[in-house]
Amino acid sequence: MPTSVVTGGAGFLGSHLTERLLQEGHHVVAIDNLLTGNERNLDHLRTEKRFRLIRHDVTQFISVEGPVDFVFHFASPASPIDYLELPIQTLKVGSLGTHNALGLAKAKGACFLLASTSECYGDPLVHPQKEDYWGNVNPIGPRGVYDEAKRFAEAMTMAYHRFHQVDTKIVRIFNTYGPRMRLRDGRVVPAFVGQALRGEPLTIFGDGKQTRSFCFVSDLIDGIYRLSQSKFHEPVNIGNPVELTILEFAERIRRITGTKSEIIKKPLPVDDPKQRQPDISRAKKILGWEPLVPLEEGLQKTIPWFQANLEKSSGG
Ligand code: UDP
Repeated sequence: MPTSVVTGGAGFLGSHLTERLLQEGHHVVAIDNLLTGNERNLDHLRTEKRFRLIRHDVTQFISVEGPVDFVFHFASPASPIDYLELPIQTLKVGSLGTHNALGLAKAKGACFLLASTSECYGDPLVHPQKEDYWGNVNPIGPRGVYDEAKRFAEAMTMAYHRFHQVDTKIVRIFNTYGPRMRLRDGRVVPAFVGQALRGEPLTIFGDGKQTRSFCFVSDLIDGIYRLSQSKFHEPVNIGNPVELTILEFAERIRRITGTKSEIIKKPLPVDDPKQRQPDISRAKKILGWEPLVPLEEGLQKTIPWFQANLEKSSGG
């Protein structure tokens, strides 16, 4: 049975990936400093003998006993609010953390998979985004701490592949949603759903004409698992290509939740990408993957999670 290390294992994606790897028969060592992750995401796995959680900051040397077959590097603040509040930690985990995680993979002879991001494309001038597009990133803007850290992480990953022959993979993750997202992480899905459930106005940033494409977490994790089993070393976009404006998304949330909340406008954050849609032809061809869960169905599976967390935070 293979052993996988998942950095950021207590986070939204890390915890879902951990679960999937356990289902596939892996032993899993999750590593997390709980800066934006939460142990509660792994509570249901505590009795699982093939699982353990190590509380550790991966910007420091990572030490894991015994053989390791896969290293999945998922540790990082990932919502715009988080990386604006934690700029140095974001830069460090993408750079030093990636270096340490690659060093672990090299020392153990393990495969390495980097959780990269559509933010590598910045505010894209090419649409939809294909993996061979180099991006339009402002290195010194507020989002630069995340974008450039991930771009550095990709460069470091390819260097370990080319120079040390580490078996590496890179997934570029587009907007993803699902249970275990933090209600107040500032991203648009928890923001709008939380506002709708509380009966507060839905806050659209800018004119709402900017676009995003939302992937349900189970689809994303399936694409990532398939990539980990492949022999493909260049970046692969994983995301849902169904694109909609943020205004359309707000209307969708109003309809599904049945809220009477109005829509209000707030200033657009600096360097907010105007459009984003993954071209997934590479994932289709190489992994035989495409998303299966429509937005409506994914939201129906996600809203109860936010509802339960709303009740907890209001003491209900
Ligand atoms: N957004 C919004 N209202 C909110 C939160 C986000 O209009 O309360 C917009 C944001 O400006 C962006 C899009 O929704 O255009 C997606 O934002 P998110 O923070 O989810 O992540 P991003 O895709 O920008 O990384």
